[in-house]
Amino acid sequence: MSELFLVPDWPAPANIKALITTRNGGVSEPPFDSFNLGLHVGDDEKAVNQNRSLLSEAAGGKIVSQWVRQVHDNHVINVHDELVEESTEADAIYTQRDNVACGVLTADCLSVLFTDVAGNEIAVAHAGWRGLASGVLQKTLEHFSAEPVSILAYLGPVIGPCHFEVGIDVRQAFQALDIKEIENQLPLLFQESETSGKWMADLYAIARIILASKGVLQVFGEPLCTYCEFDQFYSYRRDGQTGRFASVIWKESKG
Ligand SMILES: [Zn+2]
Repeated sequence: MSELFLVPDWPAPANIKALITTRNGGVSEPPFDSFNLGLHVGDDEKAVNQNRSLLSEAAGGKIVSQWVRQVHDNHVINVHDELVEESTEADAIYTQRDNVACGVLTADCLSVLFTDVAGNEIAVAHAGWRGLASGVLQKTLEHFSAEPVSILAYLGPVIGPCHFEVGIDVRQAFQALDIKEIENQLPLLFQESETSGKWMADLYAIARIILASKGVLQVFGEPLCTYCEFDQFYSYRRDGQTGRFASVIWKESKG
């Protein structure tokens, strides 16, 4: 049966913790059943807040959560002493603070978790095709003091090439990034669809290429398709009105 949380399997340092929620284990009613963490999707606010409390408990209760208003762009919030309002527009969160759970909410878009190998700095990015094409991963990496070779990344569940049909605009947006490896692998990253003039896009592979182009080669995660895995994840493409699951990362004090 379905798991309640995915714990990323990556060689992050011991003080770095991360969780990816599923749609299971919460209190929201259909079509948000049941562990919806998004306040902006039409679900009952009380249910969402109760789900958020369940997430904090699952994370050990000692953390505070930082959410932002995701707009499919490339702005990164650096959380210093104070949390920012959830209404702040951003698509990635970076911090060096202990016990701040940086979270993004998705239902098909990719989430990417980051940490340096020393466990001093962390980040999370919301990266759908628009975010990826506007450089959200590169902008997130710019906040790190650590060199790219000392940064680990973990890719969360994302709508897979089995289901992510896109038009020419999406393919062109990635060609415009002018990353050689994207150009080299274009026929693989965008396989021709059965629908004429459309392609099946592989965001997971594209993200790996973008990270590699910046020198981040330690990339983990398994490509789980949000659309296929209906027991586990929300999918906007599949369901339209639906919930959002979270990818969160936080650091504990090294003691
Ligand atoms: Zn699929």
